[in-house]
Amino acid sequence: MNNDAQVTKRPKRGVPEGLWQRCPGCHAPIFRKEAERRLFVCPECEYHWYVPANDRIRQVLDEGTFELWDDDLRPTDPLEFCDKKSYKDRLLAEQARTGLNDAAITGTGMIRARRVALGVTDSAFIMGSMGSVVGERLTRLIERATAQQLPLIVISGSGGGARMHEGILSLMQMAKVSSALARYDDAKGLFISVLTNPTMGGVAASFASLGDLIFAEPKALIGFAGPRTIKATIRIELPKGFQTSEFLLEHGFVDRIVPRAKLKSEIARAIDYCGK
Ligand SMILES: [Zn+2]
Repeated sequence: MNNDAQVTKRPKRGVPEGLWQRCPGCHAPIFRKEAERRLFVCPECEYHWYVPANDRIRQVLDEGTFELWDDDLRPTDPLEFCDKKSYKDRLLAEQARTGLNDAAITGTGMIRARRVALGVTDSAFIMGSMGSVVGERLTRLIERATAQQLPLIVISGSGGGARMHEGILSLMQMAKVSSALARYDDAKGLFISVLTNPTMGGVAASFASLGDLIFAEPKALIGFAGPRTIKATIRIELPKGFQTSEFLLEHGFVDRIVPRAKLKSEIARAIDYCGK
């Protein structure tokens, strides 16, 4: 069947917009309700679609158990940074578009009746980049997890790494979050880092790679710089798919690839296995 022809014909038949969605993996038109039922995993090719942070929280936590932490923190524009538009205007636009006030949500909740500290970054908000608010929320999350002896789960979806609009204030978040994780580790905490598509840059280079256990969703893009940047810098042709979950599992950077439908159970199992 010619999928393209099918999709272009649909609006003429009066099908409401958004009922079908094209899969970014296989380009097949997918019935949105069906994708939703499968936690936004394509029924044709198993491609794991983007999931907003709030949906992600609903997918992994027991219903109604989430308690938001540090939502009062708001990003500011200390450098009065301007690229195509001012950072101040960009923040307002991103907040309106995504319904988030910055790229990370943190808090506590239950996973199959086990209390955890949970952080999620959302790649829709300035590419999920780690500005001061993201860094501070994660640091406080880790510090609370340390004080309350909670297992720590961070689900990363960050294509942007550090947030250039905040300059050095953004870069220092990598060190700050990593230091908090070192103290959490000294206190014998269990940190499960879950990498989703994409996990890149300063996020991959700091907390996302520091898990006691590192899970990844299938076929996620995970790395530091993009393939083109690497090629332009070191002038070496890198192996095909070197920044995928599967390649990184083979080379020991990822401990386990976990399909989205099994993530909640796998986290619960890991917590029990580690006696936390
Ligand atoms: Zn697909």
